[in-house]
Amino acid sequence: MSNITSKNLEIVNQAIDDLWEEELLFLKSIGSFESTLGNEKETQIFIKKHLDDMNLTTTLFSPDPKRLSAYENYGKPEWDYEDRPVLVGEWKSDGEKLGKSLILQGHIDVVSAEPKQLWEEDPFIPTIIDNKMYGRGILDMKGGVAAAIYAVKALQKANIKLGADLLIQTVIEEECTGNGALALLDKGFVADGALIPEPTELRGIHSQLGVMWLRVKVKGSGAHVERAEMAQNAINKSTILIQALEDYRKHINAQPKHPDFTHHSHPLNVNVGVGYGGDWPSSVPNEYTFEARVGFYPGTDPSDVQEEVKQWLLKASEQDDWLKENPPEITFFGFHALGYTISKDSELFNRIASAHKKTTNEEMESLAFTATTDLRAFGEFGIPATCYGPSGANMHAPNEYIDLDSLKTVTKTIAAFILDWCKENN
Ligand SMILES: [Zn+2]
Repeated sequence: MSNITSKNLEIVNQAIDDLWEEELLFLKSIGSFESTLGNEKETQIFIKKHLDDMNLTTTLFSPDPKRLSAYENYGKPEWDYEDRPVLVGEWKSDGEKLGKSLILQGHIDVVSAEPKQLWEEDPFIPTIIDNKMYGRGILDMKGGVAAAIYAVKALQKANIKLGADLLIQTVIEEECTGNGALALLDKGFVADGALIPEPTELRGIHSQLGVMWLRVKVKGSGAHVERAEMAQNAINKSTILIQALEDYRKHINAQPKHPDFTHHSHPLNVNVGVGYGGDWPSSVPNEYTFEARVGFYPGTDPSDVQEEVKQWLLKASEQDDWLKENPPEITFFGFHALGYTISKDSELFNRIASAHKKTTNEEMESLAFTATTDLRAFGEFGIPATCYGPSGANMHAPNEYIDLDSLKTVTKTIAAFILDWCKENN
């Protein structure tokens, strides 16, 4: 049996080499869609056609927040889901179940490419230079989506019949709520294990942080600058609270660390990412709003962190005469994401590591990740899952790129993992 498998693995790896130019073209194609929040549909339709051509049974639907709001990881959206589908393609196994079923999941939403003038190339015309492909979302994580699809395509080309069902899922909102991942699992598209080829530099994630978002609205009392001494400047007042968040960041990193993150000097990031308010340099702004992201350890309830941060900011407000009387309005939206852990001794983690070794002849390193991924959705459904994906640089920044050698390695590792996890049906 194992001899047959390793012989088949050679055939499959040859198929991945033969399909390589096509895989690159596919990645360029999906990378050319500007699939930011609200603009994901075209990408999903394009991928659906591709999965249909592979004879997978495809289902495309838009998430229904009413169905999802009961989940712990549900992120509160401030937008609707019309024409914003998630997609699944099922490759059903015909015979008896010999192995375990598997989900290969990837997100096709990307963050904004602004400021676009800082890019060397157009972020939505993916360009290959020196064996790197540049473009927004090429690394995070359209490359991983291409790897998953072409691993499956290579198995089909090698005439492999799997001993368990395999599902390819492409989702939206990994970058803001995680509701896309929940929507597919909630509809019953579940399996015995899951792999997300997020860009991990060929490492397996065994632990990741939780994340939550908040919005702080600070009121002032505006006036023309000549009477500014009578007014309260909302932007100036906001700096008190932004400084308080900086103090909070230092405070939480000075606490004892979660065992998975002890090697990290500063695991918990607090980031003020958005600010808006005021409309004229010579007017005192009436209102200023900023939005921030807070990280926390696995095992912590995001609602507890929300309460802690709220109390921290209100306490800082007490120190200022104006803010004491006019406390900020603090609300929570988007990420309400639990941390996630999987044992390095678990079967899924070991089988990914062994697939990595078959491909590279090296031991797989593990990674405690200081941000979030959709892994937590699988955690909520009790499905063992990890991330393992390509290398590159500049995620969420100008000149994002993927290292193409690593993409081929990931494609081969995924194929080897599928054979090992799902088994073959003769
Ligand atoms: Zn990602």
